[in-house]
Amino acid sequence: MGLKPNEVTVIPVISTCAGVRELDVGKYIHGIAVKLGMLLEVKVVNALINLYGKCGYLEAACCLFEGMPVQSLVSWNSIIAVHVQMGLVEKGVGYFIMMRRAGVNCDQATLVSLLLACENLGFRKLAEAVHCYILNCGLDKNLTIATALLDLYAKLGILSDSCKVFSEMINPDAVAWTAMLASYAMHGRGREAMEHFELLIREGVVPDHVTFTHLLSACSHSGLVEEGESYFKIMYEVYGVEPRVEHYSCVVDLLGRSGLLNDAYKLIKRMPVEPNSGVWGALIGACRVRGNIELGKEVAEQLFALDPSDSRNYIMLSNIYSAAGQWRDASKVRALMKQRSLIRNPGCSYIEHGNKIHRFVMGDQSHPDTEQIYNKLEELIRKNREAGFTSKTEYVLHDVDREVKEDLINKHSEKLAIAFGLLVVNAGMPLIITKNLRICGDCHGFAKLVSLIEKRRIIIRDTKRFHHFSNGLCSCGDYW
Ligand SMILES: [Zn+2]
Ligand SMILES: [Zn+2]
Repeated sequence: MGLKPNEVTVIPVISTCAGVRELDVGKYIHGIAVKLGMLLEVKVVNALINLYGKCGYLEAACCLFEGMPVQSLVSWNSIIAVHVQMGLVEKGVGYFIMMRRAGVNCDQATLVSLLLACENLGFRKLAEAVHCYILNCGLDKNLTIATALLDLYAKLGILSDSCKVFSEMINPDAVAWTAMLASYAMHGRGREAMEHFELLIREGVVPDHVTFTHLLSACSHSGLVEEGESYFKIMYEVYGVEPRVEHYSCVVDLLGRSGLLNDAYKLIKRMPVEPNSGVWGALIGACRVRGNIELGKEVAEQLFALDPSDSRNYIMLSNIYSAAGQWRDASKVRALMKQRSLIRNPGCSYIEHGNKIHRFVMGDQSHPDTEQIYNKLEELIRKNREAGFTSKTEYVLHDVDREVKEDLINKHSEKLAIAFGLLVVNAGMPLIITKNLRICGDCHGFAKLVSLIEKRRIIIRDTKRFHHFSNGLCSCGDYW
C-alpha cells in the first residue's frame, strides 16, 4: 500500500493503452505522470507520443514532442512514425528534414518510416534523396533497409532500381529474396519471377506461403496458366506449404484469365478454407472480362453477403450488365447502391514533376496549367479518334446521354495526368502515374493508343498492379 508508480511501471501501461486505443485510461496515466514529474523522462514522453498518435490525437503528440527540452533520436522516430502511420506523410517528412537540420543522425527505424512515407507519397525524388543519405551513412549494407529500398523502388514503378539494389546485396536473406520476387510479380514479369524462384531454391532459401503467393500472383499477372497450376501443385507436395486463401485467389485469377470460369468456380466450391472477398473478387473480375452475366450475378451475391457496404462490388456487377447492353439491370444495381447510401470513392491520379506531386481528380480544373492540359487532352482525344478509338462509355455510372458520358469519361483523372505528363516530362522519359482505384477500360485503351501515337512509355500503378504501356500494348495483356 502507498507505493507510488514510477517510469518502469507506467511505460508498459501507456503502451498497452496505445495498443488497444484506450485513450481515457492513457490520459489518466498522463495526468499521474505529470503530477509525479515523470515528463522529464524521455521514454515516458515517447510512450505518450505513441499513445496520442495511435489514438489520432496528433496535436497532443506534437505538443508533447515540442515541449521536450531535448528531442532524442528514439522521440524523433516516434513523431515521424506517428505521422506516417496516420497517413500524414508530408508532415512526417517535414519532421525528418527538421531532424537532419538539428544534426540528429537517423537509425534504421527512422529510415524505414521514411521509406514508407516515400511509398505512400509516391515521391521518387524524395526516395532518391533518402537513398543518397543511406549510401552516405553506409547503411546500404543493412539488409532491412536495403530490402525496404528494393520494395520502394518497385512500388514507385522503377523495377530496374529494385534489381540493382538486390544485386548489390551481400547474402540476401529470405525476406529480401521474397521482396524481389514480389517486385517482379507486381510488374507482371512472370518469366523473371520464375527464374528468380529457381535461383532462390538453388541458393538454399526455403520458400514459405508468402513466396508462393508472389510466385502465383506473378504467373497470374503474366498469364502463365500451366506454370501457375504446376507451382500450386508442388507448393504442398514438394515444399509442404499448405495452400491458404490467398493462393486460391491467385489460382482462381489464373483460371479466369484462360476462360476456365467453371473450373475456377468448382475450385472455390471445394476449397478447404472459407473463400473470402479476394477469391470471389478474382472470379467476378473474370466474369466481367469474359462477359459471363449468369455467373457474375451469382458471384456478386456472394460478395454482397460478405461485405454489403463495398461499393466496388456493385460497380463491378453494374459494369458486367452494361458491357452486355443490359442497361435496365445495370441501373437497378446502381439504384440499390444509392438506396444503401454507398458512395463510390472519387478516383484520383498522381504524377511527380519538379519536386512536387501533381494530383488530378475527374474534370479537375484546379491545376495552374489547366488550359494547356485540356488543350493537350483534346489533341490526344482527336488523334485517338482518328486512329479509330471509340470511348467505352459503359464505364460511366450515370444515367445520361452518350455525349455527356463521353465528356465525363474524357475527363477521367488518368487522362488529365497523361496530358500533363506529356507537357512536362522530358521526351524519352516514361510517364509514371499512380491511380487510387482500378484503372477503367476506357482509360486503359486510351493509354495504349497514346503510348503508340506519342511514342512514349506510360506506367500506371493502380490498386491491383502496374500497367506498362508501350507501342500500343499493355504488359497486362488487357486483363486486370
Ligand atoms: Zn477512366
Ligand atoms: Zn494494362
